Amino acid sequence: MLALHGTGVSSGICIGKAYVLRRAQISVPEYNVPKPLVEKEVERFQQAIDYSRQQLERVHEHIPANAPAEAASFIETHILILADKLIADAPIENIRKHKRNAEWALSIQGQELGRIFEQMDDPYLRNRRTDVDQVVERVMRNLVMPQDVEQEESVEAGQIIVANDLTPADTVLLKHNRIKAFVTDLGGPISHTAILARSLGIPAIVSTHSATQYIRNGEELIVDGKRGVLIISPDKSVQKEYRKRQREIARLKKEIESLRKSKSVTIDGRQIHLLANIELAADVKAAIKASAEGIGLYRTEFLYMNRAQPPSEEEQFRAYRKVIKAMDGRPVTIRTLDLGADKQVDGGASAGPVTINPALGLRAVRLCLSDPGLFRPQLRAILRAAVHGSVKMMIPMLSSQSELVRVLELIEELKQELRQEGRPFDPDVLVGGMIEVPAAAVTADLFAPHLDFLSIGTNDLIQYTLAIDRVDDAVNYLYDPLHPSVLRLIATTINAGRAAGIPVAMCGEMAGDVRYTRLLIGLGLTEFSMHPATLLEIKKIVRESSAEELEELARAVMSTHDIRQLHELVDNANETRVG
Ligand code: PEP
Ligand code: MG
Repeated sequence: MLALHGTGVSSGICIGKAYVLRRAQISVPEYNVPKPLVEKEVERFQQAIDYSRQQLERVHEHIPANAPAEAASFIETHILILADKLIADAPIENIRKHKRNAEWALSIQGQELGRIFEQMDDPYLRNRRTDVDQVVERVMRNLVMPQDVEQEESVEAGQIIVANDLTPADTVLLKHNRIKAFVTDLGGPISHTAILARSLGIPAIVSTHSATQYIRNGEELIVDGKRGVLIISPDKSVQKEYRKRQREIARLKKEIESLRKSKSVTIDGRQIHLLANIELAADVKAAIKASAEGIGLYRTEFLYMNRAQPPSEEEQFRAYRKVIKAMDGRPVTIRTLDLGADKQVDGGASAGPVTINPALGLRAVRLCLSDPGLFRPQLRAILRAAVHGSVKMMIPMLSSQSELVRVLELIEELKQELRQEGRPFDPDVLVGGMIEVPAAAVTADLFAPHLDFLSIGTNDLIQYTLAIDRVDDAVNYLYDPLHPSVLRLIATTINAGRAAGIPVAMCGEMAGDVRYTRLLIGLGLTEFSMHPATLLEIKKIVRESSAEELEELARAVMSTHDIRQLHELVDNANETRVG
């Protein structure tokens, strides 16, 4: 028996046999192509692109009818990346210019794209790098080994896939083959494959570093997707223990499912609003299914990605209207663009130098204010779309009040403009600010009187407060939502909202993490926005909690001077939870 530890990215326990997906390493050949054969080489490259597209389209057709919307959108993203001129055309120029083979041309273009993505601070954009790498690898395989049969086809139902890494396309195909769980050497908790695993509901562990080295085909495995523990050849007694836990989880799942129609109210009557975070219009389905009261964060960046030009006002208007209509009167919080200075590399919307430290550079509202040509169409589109439902506008990364004043002035100016044009718009759209920079949290009382609501973005708030890059593996162990500095900033923000009489929400990952729900309720948070997949679990905690008791917990936590004791207090309060 051997246990490996990785990052659990999708909960659940699976006991089954391993299927190790070993893809032959591709070595990239490199040679000169005689001039008369250059066009033939270009043709060979184009065939590989065509074949890759056909493969992805086949995967797309195979997406099971009951698969979540993300499944299709990830594959569609790969198809779009494949069609992008940076992948489909740039290597052709290299073949012609250098009279070298297609594999070499694709490989240097892949490296070039890698360098560009390295500069990005935004984890979502960095995740796009993984997508780009996966698309490049697909084309490369089709160039080097055009006859390579897709190994996945031989996978049998009920197995646990162990692989170095998986693409979203692999994940969909594997699920189609009724795979029970997967384990990878690489990957991170916010990789698309991890997100997909969560929405497909299969246990998954990534970043084990060595699973493919230790596991042989057919070996018995236990995957504990919640704790990130992988047990190879477990003893009988360990198996028995995990089977017991499996049954417990199944019971709990059933109980949670039955909460769809139940109210999100604590036993002492405090209403806790549970909303969903979405990235694409297609995600609305999952939000409604999970009984979300509304959308607490619509990340609009995705509309701007993988394209040469930013979306027009009209295109944005249609996209927002689609979400607003689908939510059928429930509130939709549309966050204005949160891209970094890096986005022009994506063929994005604005020019400008890549800053030395993008996380501290021209991103989000700073970028938008510096480029009104980018910002104005979005604000207009939101104001116009708002007539179709209940819309809130949310400004990311506010750090100084002068920014807020400029945004509010711009919104007023655009309302006037729309009025003069005789275009319908909602003059009463609520405007809120994200509190995700420590400066804004410390001075939340100065922001609150000018805003209709606040929303705490813990992903960035934690990274900036603790000076820990949220996507840097090397310092991830220091990423602690329970760090007293973070808790104080959260409490300060909640209190500032209360004093100003405006609601305070939280839309960072902390809001959807069951380990923190009790403490946050105790701190007075009443609005949580999260991935729809975790919403019902949070509702269960709400319904079993007494807000008054949790306030006591929060008081104890906030007054403890010992960080270990602080963690213990929170752990003890959570102890009744199983699974
Ligand atoms: C956050 O920072 O917590 C947040 C919700 O925004 P994003 O993750 O999109 O930066
Ligand atoms: Mg953020």
